[in-house]
Amino acid sequence: MDVTHDDWVRRARNLVLPGAHLVDGAEHDGGGGAFPVISPRDGQVLAHVADGGAAEVDLAVAAARKAFDSGPWPRLAPAERGRVLLRIAELIEERRPELALTVSLEMGKPITDAHDIELRALINTFRWYGELADKLTDESPHTAPDALALVTREPAGVVGAVVPWNFPLTLAGWKIAPALAAGCTVVLKPSENSPLSALHLGRIATEAGLPAGVLNVVNGDGPVAGQALGLHPDVDVLAFTGSTAVGRHFLRYAADSNLKRVWLELGGKSPNIVFPDAPDLEKAAATAAWGIFFNQGEMCTAPSRLLVHSAIAERVTEAVVERARTLRVGDPLDPATEMGALVGQAHLDRVLGHIQAGVDAGVRLRTGGERILPETGGFYLRPTVFDQVVPGSRPAREEIFGPVLSVLTFDDLDEAVTLANATEYGLAAGLWTSDLSTAHQVSRALRAGTVWVNCYEEGDLTVPFGGMKQSGNGRDKSVHALEKYTELKTTWIQL
Ligand code: NAP
Ligand code: MG
Repeated sequence: MDVTHDDWVRRARNLVLPGAHLVDGAEHDGGGGAFPVISPRDGQVLAHVADGGAAEVDLAVAAARKAFDSGPWPRLAPAERGRVLLRIAELIEERRPELALTVSLEMGKPITDAHDIELRALINTFRWYGELADKLTDESPHTAPDALALVTREPAGVVGAVVPWNFPLTLAGWKIAPALAAGCTVVLKPSENSPLSALHLGRIATEAGLPAGVLNVVNGDGPVAGQALGLHPDVDVLAFTGSTAVGRHFLRYAADSNLKRVWLELGGKSPNIVFPDAPDLEKAAATAAWGIFFNQGEMCTAPSRLLVHSAIAERVTEAVVERARTLRVGDPLDPATEMGALVGQAHLDRVLGHIQAGVDAGVRLRTGGERILPETGGFYLRPTVFDQVVPGSRPAREEIFGPVLSVLTFDDLDEAVTLANATEYGLAAGLWTSDLSTAHQVSRALRAGTVWVNCYEEGDLTVPFGGMKQSGNGRDKSVHALEKYTELKTTWIQL
């Protein structure tokens, strides 16, 4: 996009931001007051949005329930549902700059990434599931000669979707699009840090012809509105993306209410392993740096542990440190900015606390570690690298969710695999080698939902995304995401 920094700032001043919940196809102010959304760019209040609690969640779930039990959506021909999803994708494309600007302002990522990466993923997601809606078939297994068996997939019902702020639109789309394609109805609870883009998306869906009540959006704080959705007896499926700690809450909410299906996309501490025979060490180092600093390190899949063979450790580390020092950190609305602001003061303090804990434990800080640009009022951190990190130490174990890299070394393949798997998480991993056997042996041995070989963060809608171990269960993206939003039914007909 050919828009200058000044243009974006001007557009930001004139941006009209939504504030009300979306319930049953209409704006709903609720009775719960309002809360401010602070822009991490400058610490200023961007907007006030309606603060939802149990009452608003009740209304939204009732609307979704009615739309599922007696509305047209689940009963439409799948091709008709697909057409509405494609129309949503078109409208998102038309409003792409406005949506990108909203995301960048509310959560601090560079406008270029919001526009080129987050919005591209959102549009592709609605397109992909729109096109997929009528391309699915059920099963009729070969069984006894006097019987006909049908195995059909039915929409699972009312879906509660609770998502975080780091990719507020992409992650919402990964839940909503397959759920809608399957014929479910949805109540979305965005993070209190990033409700504005989600509210906008809800309005676009209504405009695209989605019937009232099929997609509802309720703002509010996690422990209030999120909990109400998790405990609600009329929610059939709860699809969550966020921290492992809150994922545990959702399993409890389900156990304490109606045993709704709970799908969890949780945290990570992903290893990125560089073997000495990597096809291009410069590229491996550049990608390691890009991976950890992209999106301010606020990435569930961030390659936050760089495991590098001791023979090349200093060379690779120095290249990463050099990149950390020259990265352009600054105003998210500047198209030249490579790393924006962390989402808020509390999160910045949390990340600084992790860095201090590493320093206190005697881990070597190679670069970064401190807050910068405080005069802007925003929440900026210098890209940070720890090296000679000891296995088992806090920087080797804990998800920091910020631009902080921990470098560890290994001497052989077995040690690399052992170190890589020495984590409670299992979301993603990377490995760099020219040897075919090493690539296959190591990727088989890694307990991770995605393994990237000689790249990182690559992929498209065709492949599933999700975690093993305490990184969660179930998968977003691909045809497999539909498993979350459908129930299998067996019909046995005696002939
Ligand atoms: P979070 O604190 O777990 O919040 C995620 C969502 O849950 C937000 O909407 C939040 O609402 C809500 N929530 C918070 N406490 C709750 C409670 N007690 N009951 C019900 N809902 C509650 O996570 P975050 O800080 O926003 O995001 C960072 C985490 O997300 C990291 O751990 C990261 O790895 C993970 N993540 C995972 C993936 C993945 O696909 N695996 C992708 C991105 C991020 P409020 O924000 O409004 O309080
Ligand atoms: Mg909160």
